[in-house]
Amino acid sequence: MSNSTKYVFVTGGVTSSLGKGIISASLAKLLQARGYSATIQKLDPYINIDPGTLNPYEHGECFVTDDGAETDLDLGHYERFLNVPTSQANNVTTGRIYQSVIDKERRGEFLGKTVQVIPHITNEIKERIQILGNQGKYDIVITEIGGTVGDIESLPYVEAVRQMMWELENDCIVIHLTLVPYLSAAGELKTKPTQHSVKQLLELGVQPDILCCRTEHELDLNLRRKIAQFCNVSMNAVIESRDADSIYDVPILMQAEELDKVVLEKLGLPTKSVPKLDNWKNFLSTLKSPSSEITIGLIGKYVELKDSYKSISEAFIHAGVANQAKVTVKWIHSEKINHKNIDSELKGLDGILVAPGFGSRGILGKIETVKYARENKVPFLGICLGMQCAVIEYARNVLGWQEAHTTEIVEDCKFPVINLMSEQKNIEDMGGTMRLGAYKCLLTPGSNISKAYGTDKISERHRHRYEFNNEFISEFEKNGLKATGKNPETGLVEVVELSDHPWFVGVQFHPEYKSTVDNPHPLFVAFLSAALENNQSN
Ligand code: GLN
Repeated sequence: MSNSTKYVFVTGGVTSSLGKGIISASLAKLLQARGYSATIQKLDPYINIDPGTLNPYEHGECFVTDDGAETDLDLGHYERFLNVPTSQANNVTTGRIYQSVIDKERRGEFLGKTVQVIPHITNEIKERIQILGNQGKYDIVITEIGGTVGDIESLPYVEAVRQMMWELENDCIVIHLTLVPYLSAAGELKTKPTQHSVKQLLELGVQPDILCCRTEHELDLNLRRKIAQFCNVSMNAVIESRDADSIYDVPILMQAEELDKVVLEKLGLPTKSVPKLDNWKNFLSTLKSPSSEITIGLIGKYVELKDSYKSISEAFIHAGVANQAKVTVKWIHSEKINHKNIDSELKGLDGILVAPGFGSRGILGKIETVKYARENKVPFLGICLGMQCAVIEYARNVLGWQEAHTTEIVEDCKFPVINLMSEQKNIEDMGGTMRLGAYKCLLTPGSNISKAYGTDKISERHRHRYEFNNEFISEFEKNGLKATGKNPETGLVEVVELSDHPWFVGVQFHPEYKSTVDNPHPLFVAFLSAALENNQSN
């Protein structure tokens, strides 16, 4: 079977959270810098159709693609590293695999055969892996298998990898990520867990080609030799993956270990030019020696688990570098804010971001926060629910409509300034039914937001059911909260801005999803620049 696309599988052993996503993204970055087109896919072994219905406490943020897929947060890393958008095909769950096999069974496509995990589920997995390869756009597809080798739920995925290794022979390799723990009592790094985890893979018929060893200390030559010998890999295929200060160091560390070179050799591809990564290195050097510092308050209800706001905190890092500034994020729980403690909680912040979210928990704290930012002229960015809170706060405290709310929380409120979009009214299912993905937006020339983007036509990603209620638009605008961005087809308000405030912008969309190292998001850049100005004038 001939195939021009090469496949790299990334599996993980010993423990979860070894950073397969970052290693995959770093490898893809290095391959891209060598002139290859690479994409990354994540296979998640859980039964949810997608992570859209998952509470952020479970798996962190739900990342949204241009084509409206609700996906794993690792896809955010892929985009931030590669600066290339991902799509629905880049994230597949066990739920989706089974759903599609069961749908085929109901349509009679299996012609009376007994439908089984092998071959039907494994065939579906292989098909999903090759969808990206068959697009003809990519030289290399990197497929990250979620979970840990040996878990019951990962078994069909590892079997699919085994079959593809056999079918495509020279076009596939496996990188296995393991842990080499340091035992302080013994004063030694231990290779046994790695050996056991490779044995587990071997029992499933898969011999890894490359081992990426997560470690807190240097892997010396002896340890590398030992791992190579006991795990049947070549010495240069034992890659040290030391803990790094920042995820953005990892491509540089992997380059020093020649991970990309070994991958290309094993795939039989020419190494082409050596990656220069100039832009990336400049980014890192500013990240490490910024010339100023600002503090931004992030007000949300999931702040105990920072992964819930992953794209926002990474966008701060990108935009901070663009402003030559270190951004310290003060994570503030919206439930803990009330009108008595607000001054002390928010004192000293250079800028305030009110985060996206769902449901009533913490909403009053968010509304109080908006009031503080508005009255004290602190630069403010409200995202999705954060923008909706800005509208509610203005209605209550400036227009005097005390009973203004979103119908998400009070269905029959007197002033439904935020209400359900008409296309959402008869929807009962929770999964994949929001307004999702990229929509165009027209900005008002001269507004702060159009200055930020440097253009009046933008496209941004969405994930919400509720919207600004256009019935009230003239009351808001007359008093100074302007709608400065609208969907050109539907007239939906996507952006609100205060006219008598240095920088107060609320957006119904999620700019954070599109911020990358090569392309820091202009709205975050402008927000931080306003925060810097605020810092310097205080
Ligand atoms: N809960 C709000 C809505 O559905 C906001 C969603 C969000 O912040 N992503 O419209």
